[in-house]
Amino acid sequence: MTETLAADEAGIAAAAGLLRAGRLVAFGTETVYGLGGDATNAAAVAAIFAAKGRPRFNPLICHYPDADSAFADVVANDLARIVAAAFWPGPLTLVLPRRPECPVALLAGAGLGTLAVRVPAHQLARALLRAVDRPVAAPSANRSGQVSPTTAGHVRDGLGGRIDAVLDSGPCAVGVESTVLDLGDTPVLLRPGGVTQEALEALIGPIARAAPGAALKGPGMLASHYAPSLPVRLAATSVAADEALLAFGAPLAGAAATFQLSAAGDLREAAARLFDGLRRLDEEGARRGLVGIAVMDIPGRGLGEAINDRLGRAAAPRGND
Ligand code: AMP
Ligand code: MG
Repeated sequence: MTETLAADEAGIAAAAGLLRAGRLVAFGTETVYGLGGDATNAAAVAAIFAAKGRPRFNPLICHYPDADSAFADVVANDLARIVAAAFWPGPLTLVLPRRPECPVALLAGAGLGTLAVRVPAHQLARALLRAVDRPVAAPSANRSGQVSPTTAGHVRDGLGGRIDAVLDSGPCAVGVESTVLDLGDTPVLLRPGGVTQEALEALIGPIARAAPGAALKGPGMLASHYAPSLPVRLAATSVAADEALLAFGAPLAGAAATFQLSAAGDLREAAARLFDGLRRLDEEGARRGLVGIAVMDIPGRGLGEAINDRLGRAAAPRGND
């Protein structure tokens, strides 16, 4: 059952309570309706991917009530402060390096060292974010492959029964998604959106443009995904004494180090732990001179599709996406 919550104090309190408890709540912003989950709770983030039916773990935008709370989680350079002062709150997302102490689950950022952050302008969304008092990861509140919703009715049509609640804040004003601007080294526009490139360039000068659809692939722009430095071997049915093991279900015996994704064979738990597991084994493997990471077979149903997509990329010869 997906509950519809009214755009009042009680509705906001109820929505915030659900989010803080790890549940999923769609809410209106000035751009489109977002499918919100507690970004610091990896299980909640895994549930977002499951509800959307996304076949890949792409990085999600984290939403904050103000710039100070956003910049507590990412490192803001001068350009970031300038554009934030001009366009926040508003339909602009900034991609910046995570701070070491950033509490956002690795899954929310698809394992990347950067994080996409935004302060929405919508009053109700900001009231909700203040009440939650944690970063809220929120991709558009539609099933994967469908169009972004701009009313609560659209959200119920696509996700009814798959999420806990939708906070009905009326139709969205902008209706297009936020502009995504990478401010890592040089400014790169990753996605055009509610704030125009011209308006941004008037403030900070020339901005390179990522090819459409290449937001996470452009050579030399940013790491396309988190890839461990050790070789990754998939569908392992045995493990060598000088290998690390990423286990799913009853672990293979004999590994030098083991990280259990889910002893119970639960795909949602495995998704939530995937990037932590890869990082942990990669670090330990490097420290101890292990030769690689063996990964046990993971079924392709449900979130298994996205898990296997990411593991497949980690195992692909380097230089490939
Ligand atoms: P959505 O949440 O569905 O509106 O999409 C988020 C957009 O932000 C996608 O285009 C992502 O590729 C992009 N994005 C989010 N995080 C990052 C990041 N760390 N680096 C690059 N692009 C990002
Ligand atoms: Mg979308």
